[in-house]
Amino acid sequence: MYNQQEIDKIRYNSIPEQKLLIGSKWVKAKQGKIQNIISPINGEKISEIQVSDEADVDEAVKSSRAIFEEGQWSNMPPAAKKKVMHKIADLIEGNMLELAVLGVRDNGTEINMAYKAEPGSAAETFRYYAEAIDKVYGEISNTSNDFVGLIQREPVGVVGAIVPWNFPLMIGAWKIAPALAMGNSVVIKPSEAASLSILRLGEICLEAGLPPGTLNIVTGNGRTAGQALARHMDVDVLTFTGSGNTGRQLLEYSAQSNMKRVYQELGGKSPNIIFSDTDNLEEAAKVSAMGIFRNSGEVCVAGSRLLVEDKIHDEFLNLISNFSSKLKIGDPLDIQNDVGAINSESQLQSDMNFVKKAETEGGIVELGGKRVHKETGGFYMEPTIVSSVKKDMDIFQNEVFGPVLTVTSFSNEEEAVQLANGTSFGLASGVWTANLSRAHRMIKKIKAGTVFVNTYGGSDNTLPLTGVKQSGNGSDKSLHALDKFTDLKSVWMKL
Ligand code: NAD
Repeated sequence: MYNQQEIDKIRYNSIPEQKLLIGSKWVKAKQGKIQNIISPINGEKISEIQVSDEADVDEAVKSSRAIFEEGQWSNMPPAAKKKVMHKIADLIEGNMLELAVLGVRDNGTEINMAYKAEPGSAAETFRYYAEAIDKVYGEISNTSNDFVGLIQREPVGVVGAIVPWNFPLMIGAWKIAPALAMGNSVVIKPSEAASLSILRLGEICLEAGLPPGTLNIVTGNGRTAGQALARHMDVDVLTFTGSGNTGRQLLEYSAQSNMKRVYQELGGKSPNIIFSDTDNLEEAAKVSAMGIFRNSGEVCVAGSRLLVEDKIHDEFLNLISNFSSKLKIGDPLDIQNDVGAINSESQLQSDMNFVKKAETEGGIVELGGKRVHKETGGFYMEPTIVSSVKKDMDIFQNEVFGPVLTVTSFSNEEEAVQLANGTSFGLASGVWTANLSRAHRMIKKIKAGTVFVNTYGGSDNTLPLTGVKQSGNGSDKSLHALDKFTDLKSVWMKL
């Protein structure tokens, strides 16, 4: 693992101006525009990224297309491809702390979480899909005996990936690794609010022997670089993680360009339902608190709506408030802290505004609600619990994406289901009960891509991450993710 001294040794390393990765070269954006990278830890500038526009994105897509057609990667034998992907995982693991610290300086996630969730899970993801390369085959259909029907899986070509700032390396790996495993080339645009670790991954991929051009990286904001990638006529598939507002625009860009397929992992407003027959309420309170407050609530599947059976409402609110009030908020590179920084000042402001509005609508702030450690120049907010929240309130319906938990009580199973399904989202959910039949009834009735039962959070590559309703479509993770990056070709042969 790591200790504080090792972190302190590298946490102030200077970070040179970052470039775009196109082919084998690191280049500046053609227009010469750059953007400062501000660290949420202390509000200070730590580096600069290139702001790419249409011309840069076009060059990246052309480079990806050329390498795809030439076949250095797309036609590489499976065993050789697998070696390169394992080498990428080796190099990520060999540079775990450096990657984790770099990412934390950029996005503010507490190091204890970032270390496992960012380089840790990215390495596992590359290994998982490396192993899939020579284990996922086509099929033979059961046609009549005078025909043979083959179903071949073919790479789609050039994949465009657009990712957010909350877990850039992990989410980047969820897109890049399965796309590469199926023989595609990728152009990725990380968030302008967290690009550094993806850029470092680009160096690692080249070092591991991924043919140049197979992975290109363009940085910059959504309106320029992101839009150019999403509208590009030669991108075959777009895989996106981010907010619903952006997702809506991507669908328009697709319709206005080449009708590329768009797969989306969007926001959530996930219910976490506590029944009075839960075995260990204290444990449920701890796990539920971390299910919202880790990474300052900047987690897509965060259990942000606590629904509590009325019989235990006051007791449970006490338990979760007590536990949450003891969480240590502060410098995300201090291993003693439980919760780090909010990604940006504007995100912090937006989180606080949600709480203020909830109060005007009748919500009661039971815990937190305030900015802390302002003197550091960084962006920190107390874990916040708002009770008496009703279904029609803004804070019940919309994603805060911050350390804010709402509490609503219910009196029976039916009401719990109605509240749980009462938003436009359908990403994750939690159910706490000792009654197995009730757990199964709830699993069936809740409209969400994931149901956690008697736990909240936790996952690995074997389970898909998927959303229903306005939380998205398609899957990241698991073998199902491969479907996004392959086309099926039917072959009909007369014997
Ligand atoms: P965002 O939508 O603002 O940005 C995401 C990415 O899209 C960034 O790279 C951004 O530059 C780009 N972008 C923005 N506008 C664009 C445009 N018009 N055209 C093309 N690209 C554009 O989201 P964010 O604030 O970075 O991330 C937070 C959101 O991501 C939350 O809603 C969160 O729930 C969601 N998220 C979902 C999952 C999941 O798996 N479902 C995981 C993590 C985060």
